Amino acid sequence: MSTDTAPSPERSDFVRDIVASDLREGRVDTVVTRFPPEPNGYLHIGHAKSICLNFGIANDFHGRCNLRFDDTNPLKEEQEYIDSIQADVRWLGFDWQERLYFASDYFEQLYEWAVRLITDGKAYVDDQSADEIRAHRGTLTEPGVPSPCRDRSVAESLDLFERMRAGEFPNGARVLRAKIDMAAGNINMRDPVMYRILHTAHPRTADAWCIYPSYDFAHGQSDAIEGVTHSICTLEFQDHRPLYDWFTANLPVPSVPHQYEFARLNLTHTVLSKRLLLRLVNEGIVRGWDDPRMPTLSGLRRRGFPAEGLRDFVSMVGVARADSVVEIEMMEHAVRDVLNRSALRRFAVLDPLKVVIENYPEDLVEEMDVPNNPEDPDCGTRAVPFTRELWIERDDFLEDPPSKFFRLAPGREVRLRSAYFITCAEVVKDDDGRIVELRCTYDPATRGGSAPDGRRPKATLHWLSASHTAPAVVRLYDHLFASPYPSARGTDILEDVNPGSEVVLTGCLVEPSLSQTRVGETVQFERLGYFCPDRDSAPGALVFNRTLGLRDTWAKVQAQGR
Ligand code: ATP
Ligand code: MG
Repeated sequence: MSTDTAPSPERSDFVRDIVASDLREGRVDTVVTRFPPEPNGYLHIGHAKSICLNFGIANDFHGRCNLRFDDTNPLKEEQEYIDSIQADVRWLGFDWQERLYFASDYFEQLYEWAVRLITDGKAYVDDQSADEIRAHRGTLTEPGVPSPCRDRSVAESLDLFERMRAGEFPNGARVLRAKIDMAAGNINMRDPVMYRILHTAHPRTADAWCIYPSYDFAHGQSDAIEGVTHSICTLEFQDHRPLYDWFTANLPVPSVPHQYEFARLNLTHTVLSKRLLLRLVNEGIVRGWDDPRMPTLSGLRRRGFPAEGLRDFVSMVGVARADSVVEIEMMEHAVRDVLNRSALRRFAVLDPLKVVIENYPEDLVEEMDVPNNPEDPDCGTRAVPFTRELWIERDDFLEDPPSKFFRLAPGREVRLRSAYFITCAEVVKDDDGRIVELRCTYDPATRGGSAPDGRRPKATLHWLSASHTAPAVVRLYDHLFASPYPSARGTDILEDVNPGSEVVLTGCLVEPSLSQTRVGETVQFERLGYFCPDRDSAPGALVFNRTLGLRDTWAKVQAQGR
């Protein structure tokens, strides 16, 4: 996506309306946004909403969007997260060009500004502990209690702050606080903490610092340094806006950003909180941050969701100021829509049942011409070998079928996709009565899948030649949480994990050509769903993930909601 695409007129939301009017009325010349992750976890689909909004606005209005890490808390931040976040934003289709920034790059400037506030009598070093500060903050109805240190002299605060930086005090011994208003109705304005002592190495500044700015002190000033015009964030920061404005009003910042808040994305059957996702990882409930059940971008990618489908989903959701929960089926619908157009069709048999075609020559191998994508003739066809012994899906046969079962049964004729019509003549069982083989006959006149006399079987099955297969393990995925609102029950959220969220099938068989399918490419196993090779896949030991089943359940979910 280049930055010079024309504004897309069909897309509009309240943030774009604000940007458009700011540009029209000359309040800003060039729109500058940023996506500001804290590198304390992997990005999830909620972040995709923020990424698409920030980068999308920059694209639409010929502006710029920075990628900036708000890396102010070394206790929780790791290089692994910094790397994964960059990979995920790129994968989603966005480019920050040379504008990769870190709040930690501004630590020296932020320190100078903190000194400036102390000098101006607008900040002070407080000797109270974090617990004491919290206890004296007051409530929504009661004002806070001023710290005994609130009126200490500028000189003393300057001296203590310098010594905090020099490493003279242990963690938690002192903090720097803004001196605003302990009786403010907005608790964020009751002398918020600007700096804390933390003798911890930082992923980027290593041991250079043992005091770190709070997120609230770093965030707005970082935007100001970068010339961000529209600081777009989620609603929980609305109550912090007066504080951000207070800092920029009281400091000689090079520019004044304006903050606009929009509603977070929430999805049914999952959680979008890095803290909870980290628990799933740490407690071994999933295979890692990129487990295909995770709502992380790397998990969705491993699951086989194309980036285009996620961008479409985010755009369907839109941008609003009211919190809501979106059905996960809507995301699946958007993804299916892309896959239905683009995914190549392949044959795979997950639970194989042997078919022997008694009237088919022993040694003959015919190449059947099978379309790669009926939705897109440009995708051409491929040759799939057909032989006397085949595999079909076990549940495509019933010995004693109920009236609505149209697939194979004794004496019944079905079509094998792009091959022949076959009729079941005999059922072979083992000593335990389990069906091990079907003896069938074929009609040589039906090659390609149609009969000269125009007869049409009621079912078309997928199949594989028994001597042309590759073995595979297939992992079937379903919603990570059984309940649509996993956090609403009040019990420990992990108790709600869907025990059937991953089912591993062994002994599956796939077209040999599927051993060439790359990780990252999603195909349709005909009649079964969309699947992609997992990164655990190896030559001779293929592993596929089920991306999604074929049936779109979104319409049904919508109907229930009405
Ligand atoms: P989490 O609550 O999952 O831990 P966070 O808000 O702490 O996420 P950040 O790294 O601070 O994660 O997020 C970067 C940006 O993404 C922020 O501007 C934040 O507002 C936005 N964001 C985070 N979660 C969502 C969401 N569910 N929907 C939309 N935007 C989100
Ligand atoms: Mg955050």
